[in-house]
Amino acid sequence: MGKNKKIISRVIPPTEKLEPAWWFAFQENKLLVQAESSRVTVPYRIDFAELRLPVLRQHYLGRLDNRHCYTVELAEGITAPAGMTFEGLRQVYDRMDEDLFWVAGRAVQIIDWDRTHQFCGRCGIRTKLHPTERAKECPQCGLLHFPRLAPAIIVLVERGHEMLLARAHRFPTAMYSTLAGFVEPGETLEEAVLREVKEESGITVKDIRYFGSQSWPFPHSLMIGFTALYESGEIILGDEENIDVGWFSADNLPPLPGKISIARRLIDWFLEKQGKLPGENHRGSPPPFPPPSEGEG
Ligand SMILES: [Zn+2]
Repeated sequence: MGKNKKIISRVIPPTEKLEPAWWFAFQENKLLVQAESSRVTVPYRIDFAELRLPVLRQHYLGRLDNRHCYTVELAEGITAPAGMTFEGLRQVYDRMDEDLFWVAGRAVQIIDWDRTHQFCGRCGIRTKLHPTERAKECPQCGLLHFPRLAPAIIVLVERGHEMLLARAHRFPTAMYSTLAGFVEPGETLEEAVLREVKEESGITVKDIRYFGSQSWPFPHSLMIGFTALYESGEIILGDEENIDVGWFSADNLPPLPGKISIARRLIDWFLEKQGKLPGENHRGSPPPFPPPSEGEG
């Protein structure tokens, strides 16, 4: 992912709209995309008002490769303009420029945060957008509401040439993925890894090492990836989250998550280490659903 162009995040928009910009428009959590042969892109226009769609809220996001990016929320129930459709992010991830996809993932979180923080959580007064920061401020008590992020650990547990994978109830297919779960208040990331693996599989791990991280905008997770080694224990199917948990090797791979997910990067890292990375045509499923969120999304 390091090779990709990253957005330079800004809050204050340019004073004038003089050149085309990328417009990430959402109706609920569906992105307005336009077809471009077999792929899709987002509207690239000087002003979104050209499309004559009713906009509920708008945020400036910053610049991607020196092009301005905005996100807008559209009213429910309107139909997409000719040649355009509303699609869920999971449905477009493999048909869209990856840099644009990740900006869309950022945009949907900002729209969702604005929509769900219209009123102060302390005193119930209508909030206002902070003029220079990505924050909503209560005019009565001054409480600031920042975009929410829910940190979640995701871990590949190794035992020799095998890795620990689980099939969760929430997965739409027979896919298996690495174990994952939200970090609880008061926990370190390593404690969350130990607890989640123990709860979901009965296994105790050691040698927990940081692997990498990924924004996961469904609805606002930050996935923090780790590798760990098996220490002790037998598999016990834990909490109600999974249908099955088991050890898998390169020779008996189940259907795996899609390439865009950090789960798949962890799995590919493990297979590559053994010289067993399957070819590009190995079956990939759509990215896994996130760990269960705090009741929304
Ligand atoms: Zn307040």
